Amino acid sequence: MKIIGAFGASRYTIRELELFRDADTPAVAALLAACPVVKVAKGEPVEDGLRARLYVVLSGSLGVQPATAAGEGEIQRVLPGESVGEQSVLDDAANLDAITALDDSELLVIEPALVWRLIDEGNGVARNLLRLLSFRIRAANALLRRRQKLGEFYRQLSMNDGLTGLYNRAWLNDMLPKLVARSRMDRSPLSLVMIDLDHFKRFNDTHGHMAGDTALATAAAVIRSALRPSDFAVRYGGEELMAILPNTNRTLAVMVAERLCARMREAVVFDDMRIALPHLTGSFGVASLGAEQDERSLVEAADAALYRAKEAGRDRIHV
Ligand code: GH3
Ligand code: MG
Ligand code: MG
Repeated sequence: MKIIGAFGASRYTIRELELFRDADTPAVAALLAACPVVKVAKGEPVEDGLRARLYVVLSGSLGVQPATAAGEGEIQRVLPGESVGEQSVLDDAANLDAITALDDSELLVIEPALVWRLIDEGNGVARNLLRLLSFRIRAANALLRRRQKLGEFYRQLSMNDGLTGLYNRAWLNDMLPKLVARSRMDRSPLSLVMIDLDHFKRFNDTHGHMAGDTALATAAAVIRSALRPSDFAVRYGGEELMAILPNTNRTLAVMVAERLCARMREAVVFDDMRIALPHLTGSFGVASLGAEQDERSLVEAADAALYRAKEAGRDRIHV
C-alpha cells in the first residue's frame, strides 16, 4: 500500500462517492482534500494496524472477508464509490475483517477523527452513513437468517433416518426425556409402542436385502400414516420401530397398537419388478408411563411386552 497523493489533487470527484452523495459542500470538500489516496496492488492486503480507518474505493475493488466466530465468511465485494470500515470507525473498535484488493485499486483513506468532523460539518454525511449502516444491518440479518435455515436443514438431516424417513435414535435420545418431563409436568399420560418386524431375517434371506429395505420403508410408512400428527414414529434399530404417543393412556394406546398391527398385516410390499411379496407382520409391545418410571424403564417395559408378543406367536400386541 503506497500513498500516491492527496485526494484534492487527484482525478476523482466527491460526487462519485456514495458516502458524500448530496453532501458535497465546500466544508466537506476542504476536509477531504487533504486525505491521502493510496494505491494497493491486486492481491495485496489493505493494512489496518490496530486502529480502524475508513476506506473509500476510488478505482478497482476490494474483497472483505468478515471475521466470524464460525470461521471464514463469504467475501463481500466493495466497488468504486463504496466504502468499508464505517462501523469500526464509529464504534472505535479494531476492524477484524480481512480486506484485500481484488484488482489494482486506489483508495481514499479517512482517519476516524476526520470522519467525526465530516459528520459534524453537515447533515448529509450523517444521513448517508445512517442509510449505509442500515443497509449493512439488513444484509447481515439476511445472512444470519440464511445460516439459521441451513443449520435447521442439517439438524433435521441428522435427526432422521435415511431409509425410512422416521426419526432416528439420536432424536429419540434427545426428545424422549423431554416428552417424559412434559408428561409429568402436565400430568398427561404418555405411551410407547415398540415394534419389531417378524421373521425379517428370513424375509431378507428369501427375497434379498434390497427387497428387505423396501419392506422396511413400507412398514415405516404404514406406521407413520396410521399415527396422529401429535405422535412420533422412530426407527429404533435395524427392523425395530417405535411409536411415541403423547397424551395417550394405556387403553387408547392398545387400540392404536391394534390398528398398527392390522395395517401392517394388510400392507403390500412390491419388489423391484412390481410383484407383490408375502405380507409382513410385526410384534407390538405397549407400555404407558407409570408414576415411578423414567424414560429408560418405560422403554424396557415396552421391550418386555414386545418380547412376550413374540413368545406368544408374533403378529400381535402385548401390554
Ligand atoms: P423375529 O421375528 O424374532 O424378530 O425374527 P427376525 O428375523 O426379525 O429377528 P432378528 O433380530 O434375528 O433379525 C433381524 C433382521 O433384520 C436381521 C437383519 O438382516 C434385518 N435388518 C435389520 N436392519 C435392516 C435393514 O436396514 N435392511 C434390511 N434389508 N434388513 C435389515
Ligand atoms: Mg429385531
Ligand atoms: Mg424381527
